[in-house]
Amino acid sequence: RPRIFSGMQPTADSLHLGNYLGALTSWVALQDTHDAFYCVVDMHSITVEFEPEVLRRRSRATAAQFLAGGVDPERSTLLLQSHVAAHAELSWVMTCLTGFGEASRMTQFKDKSQRIGADRTGAGIFAYPMLMAADILLYQTDLVPVGEDQRQHLELTRNLAQRFNSRFGQTFVVPEPYIVKQTAKIYDLQQPDKQMSKSLPGPGCLYLLDDPKANAKKIRSAVTDTGREVRFDPAEKPGVSNLLTMLSALSGREVAALEEDYTGKGYGDLKKDLADVFVEFVTPFRERVQALVGDTEGLDAILARGAERARAVAGETLAATYDRVGFLPAK
Ligand code: ATP
Ligand code: MG
Repeated sequence: RPRIFSGMQPTADSLHLGNYLGALTSWVALQDTHDAFYCVVDMHSITVEFEPEVLRRRSRATAAQFLAGGVDPERSTLLLQSHVAAHAELSWVMTCLTGFGEASRMTQFKDKSQRIGADRTGAGIFAYPMLMAADILLYQTDLVPVGEDQRQHLELTRNLAQRFNSRFGQTFVVPEPYIVKQTAKIYDLQQPDKQMSKSLPGPGCLYLLDDPKANAKKIRSAVTDTGREVRFDPAEKPGVSNLLTMLSALSGREVAALEEDYTGKGYGDLKKDLADVFVEFVTPFRERVQALVGDTEGLDAILARGAERARAVAGETLAATYDRVGFLPAK
């Protein structure tokens, strides 16, 4: 089975519907056909401001949401990045292999350092793609499910793998991007030209763990368009199209079938139905997350098992890498 690796940062208490429909549902689907490693990338999350107590809570909450969403720890390896030391160790080798100019050209680094201001930008933001390369290459990953925003980093990962292999001998699988299908992109309810995002946490963002009633209200207040017709047309009707995308993903009905359902009906009907379907989905999801987070020992045991499996695979890659670059084994 082809190997896949994917991760999410524990930078919020709750996933939003974009994380769920754009990433988590495909993670769950891929478990049947792939040898999957799903990682809470806590080391990445300290590249921006954080609080230790909050980070602890969010790391567990993120893992719990993976599980509640259907990641099965019997079939997939669920791990916390900091539990596997090889991530930090390989990232140093990757850092030394990366050109300064090459890293400076990463758009995430340019955007974030511009937003935060050069003086307050940590070197961790600069080193982020090298750590991400280590995450992926450690597991001899064939495919990486990534959103459009991480494409450039994956391209760097591929370059680093090829560079290492040609200089030191075949060591890493060169990973391919696995592009999640277009329909999985979810936009902000109030600004449907922008992706739903933790960076836009306002009235247009549906956090799964928030009060379902409050979220239903956000859906009913979503921006639509002038006109009345419920039709999928992202250019002319971005708001309505986004609602149709969400309803289709949550109900399993094709967008075309939904368009027919709504002939002669209005935006209000669409919003009401989406709110109902959302609440129906999210109510048991929240209960599962609550139960998982409530059982800290059980959750930590799942993460410990994942870390153990991950260390076995990562350890082999790291040992080969260290040997190739000329680090002496400890005798
Ligand atoms: P940030 O604003 O900090 O970048 P985010 O909300 O974009 O946060 P990430 O942690 O960057 O969330 O992304 C986690 C995963 O969710 C990634 O695989 C990403 O591609 C996916 N994702 C995030 N937002 C959306 C969205 N609106 N639609 C579809 N997929 C999304
Ligand atoms: Mg993002």
